[in-house]
Amino acid sequence: MKITDTMEVIEFKLEVGGHEIVIHPIVIYEEGQAVLIDTGFPGSYEMLMQHIDPAYPVNTVILTHQDLDHIGTLPQLLAAANGGLKVYAHTGDQPAIDGRAPFLKASPERLDMMLSALPQPEQDAFRSVFSPETPGNVTHTLHGGELLPFAGGLQVIATPGHTPGHISLYHPSSKTLITADAMVVEDGQLMGPVPQHTLNMEQAIQSLNAFRNLDVETVVCYHGGLFRGDLQQRLDELVHSS
Ligand SMILES: [Zn+2]
Repeated sequence: MKITDTMEVIEFKLEVGGHEIVIHPIVIYEEGQAVLIDTGFPGSYEMLMQHIDPAYPVNTVILTHQDLDHIGTLPQLLAAANGGLKVYAHTGDQPAIDGRAPFLKASPERLDMMLSALPQPEQDAFRSVFSPETPGNVTHTLHGGELLPFAGGLQVIATPGHTPGHISLYHPSSKTLITADAMVVEDGQLMGPVPQHTLNMEQAIQSLNAFRNLDVETVVCYHGGLFRGDLQQRLDELVHSS
């Protein structure tokens, strides 16, 4: 789905643990290269690449947070960029993304289970990239409030709660809000963060206030995709009903 001539929402279906999951990374084509916002599950690199124009090598990745469905193909993206990948992430999630701290939501057992489904070289690549023994992965740390030089300006909004370093992104020129996992779309309706996947629900609801007063026509949720209704009205309903 195109948001602008150079910004596209990828709809990406895959089987995880026996059920189908649909996720929505975003690609921005920029001066012969591609910027990717979130990277899918471990093991899904080839499928993801089918959605990206091969004429535009991915040279930049913005990770909205540390969860496995967002960082999963970072090892392959790093390898493909041959040391030249720019990786943006918030300082709150940087330790896990750099391999310096355990993933907050994936216990070692869960991680083993997830990785055991992958071919050995992919398991090894994942463990090596997210290891304290290898160099960190984040090249550009974010705090919230930055204006990134992509698609004519992409604003970083800190939205902690789902994870401590969760970010959302706002693209003023197309009036697009990229919530990542701060919100989801379920059955066509925009909803708040999903409680069973959110570390600090109170903080995650508070974070929705950061979307107040944004001029938004299109909301893109990583889980659920596009929503084009009245964001401000939904925020009123969601923040008051919680
Ligand atoms: Zn997610």
